[in-house]
Amino acid sequence: MKNIPFVSLEHQNALIKKELEADILDTVQSNYFILGDKLKKFETEYAAYSNTSQCIGVGNGFDALKLSLLALGIKKGDEVIAPAHTFIATILAIMDVGATPILVDVHPETYTIDYHQVEAKISTRTKAIIVVHIYGNPCEMDQICSIAEKNDLFVIEDNAQAHGALYKGQKTGSFGVLNATSFYPAKNLGCFGDGGAITTDQKALQEYLLMYRNYGSSKKYFSDVSGCNSRLDEIQAGILSIKLKYLDKWNSERRKMASEYKKYLDPGVKTQHIDTNSISVYHLFTIECDKRNELQEFLITEGINTQIHYPVPPHLQKACSKLGYKKGDLPITEKLSNTLLSLPLYIGLTTLDIQFVSEKINYFYKKNNLLD
Ligand SMILES: *Cc1c(COP(=O)(O)O)cnc(C)c1O
Repeated sequence: MKNIPFVSLEHQNALIKKELEADILDTVQSNYFILGDKLKKFETEYAAYSNTSQCIGVGNGFDALKLSLLALGIKKGDEVIAPAHTFIATILAIMDVGATPILVDVHPETYTIDYHQVEAKISTRTKAIIVVHIYGNPCEMDQICSIAEKNDLFVIEDNAQAHGALYKGQKTGSFGVLNATSFYPAKNLGCFGDGGAITTDQKALQEYLLMYRNYGSSKKYFSDVSGCNSRLDEIQAGILSIKLKYLDKWNSERRKMASEYKKYLDPGVKTQHIDTNSISVYHLFTIECDKRNELQEFLITEGINTQIHYPVPPHLQKACSKLGYKKGDLPITEKLSNTLLSLPLYIGLTTLDIQFVSEKINYFYKKNNLLD
């Protein structure tokens, strides 16, 4: 029987195995592991790639979000607007600095924050809007940025799922005053452990963040601000520099795979809408199905592994109970949590695999009268 994993890094890593091994060995032999030349090199390269002047490597995506909020002085008593349909890290980072996340439902077709609903949620305490380019699909940044400007709010991008995506030809991760990203292994740009970064055009914020990530210290053993330890290490930075060279090629392969899914899936199978202003990098390829759990079970019997992003939305998680939301408050997000299914999509997945997965899904939809 076939066995198609949901995600596999095997093929991608095999393509550049020699380069990666040589670089890791080089770091090991240099005996220099923290805050060295490889990090500086990657920061320069990733800033250039993102079309920003600065990049600060940090320990993970959560810290990238949290440190961005701290650098902007966001604290207890402040409110931060964020999309309800996101990975929980976005919301926990806001709570971690003591601020209150104000959740806005997402658009039912694009799954990104519904900007029409943002202004009604702005209060005198609102300091920032965090947008999430969910599954690699850019948010409507023109509208978001103009709402932010009009109301004197910071924009922070959570770009963890969208390295290389474009909105009106401009890279995501370059619109916000600060932009947070993650290099978790399975992201479009991933390292071999935890990693993250912040991009910005503001030199003063970069300087603050360089200190903050390293115990508030710009000079060894002298701490100017009460910072933390959140550093991107040399081994990860070296790996990321290598993978960054292939990112555009891999992203275009992901787009090709997504277009193959759209070609082979019955037109009645609903997929994420990508606006004509946007170029997605398809971190995930999702379909909406009213019998989602049964479909997932059926696909397992055919050797096809899928995942659910996300089975419980942040506002209904126990961890967020103090925010006081209840079922029904964010209907689109709640519907997506019951209907979305993420299909296999990774470098090395073949056209034949995509045809096979699509045929099985089409069969399930027909058998269950799900096509209208
Ligand atoms: C992965 C992810 C994060 C968190 O990244 P970590 O490196 O795992 O901390 C934050 N936001 C979104 C949208 C993500 O997908």
